[in-house]
Amino acid sequence: MGEDVVLAHGTTRAFKLTKGQRLRITTLEGGQVVDLCFKDFNQSLSRDLNGIQRFDFPKLVSTLDLDMALYDGAGEAVLTLIENHTEAPHDLLFPGCRSDIYEGELDGCRDMLASALDISLASLPPTTTFFMFVDEDMALTIHKTAEKDDYVVLRAERDVTVGLSACPDRHWCNPNPSDIKVEVLGPE
Ligand SMILES: [Zn+2]
Repeated sequence: MGEDVVLAHGTTRAFKLTKGQRLRITTLEGGQVVDLCFKDFNQSLSRDLNGIQRFDFPKLVSTLDLDMALYDGAGEAVLTLIENHTEAPHDLLFPGCRSDIYEGELDGCRDMLASALDISLASLPPTTTFFMFVDEDMALTIHKTAEKDDYVVLRAERDVTVGLSACPDRHWCNPNPSDIKVEVLGPE
C-alpha cells in the first residue's frame, strides 16, 4: 500500500511511516536538493554516532552515506539510508534554508518543514539535505549535483513522521530547480 507523491519544487509535505516502511526519494530531473527533518532529529549526534561507527574513534562525519542512520537525541536510530543511487553526497552540516535568506519573498525549507511537521520554527531541528555537496571549506557548491532519476531509499527504524522539502532555492542549492518524487514503500 504505497503512497506515491510528486513534490513540486518549492513545496513540502509530511509522510507518516511505520517501523520497517521505506521511503524512496527521486530527483526527477536532477539538480534539485531535498531537505529532510523529523521531530527530535539530532543532526549533531548523527554526525558523531556515524563517525564512531565508521572510524572506531571520535571523528565526525559530514555526510550521510550508505548504511548510516539519522538519530534522535537519545541516540536511537530513526531512519537508515539503505540504498544510495547517486554520486551526489547528502549533507549533515547545514540547517536548511530560511525565509530571511530570500528576504521574506519565499518561505525556506525550515519555515515549510516547521509548518508541515507542526513544530515551532524555534524548536525545529536542523535538517539533512539529500543531493547537496559541501566542500572542505564548509561552503555549499553545486559541483557534485544529482543526475536525472537519482534516488535514495531510507528505512524507518520506528514509527516516525518525516517532513520533506523540495528546496525552493534557485541560486545556491539547485542548479536545475525541479520536482521530486516520494514513494512510501512497504517493508523489504
Ligand atoms: Zn532549502
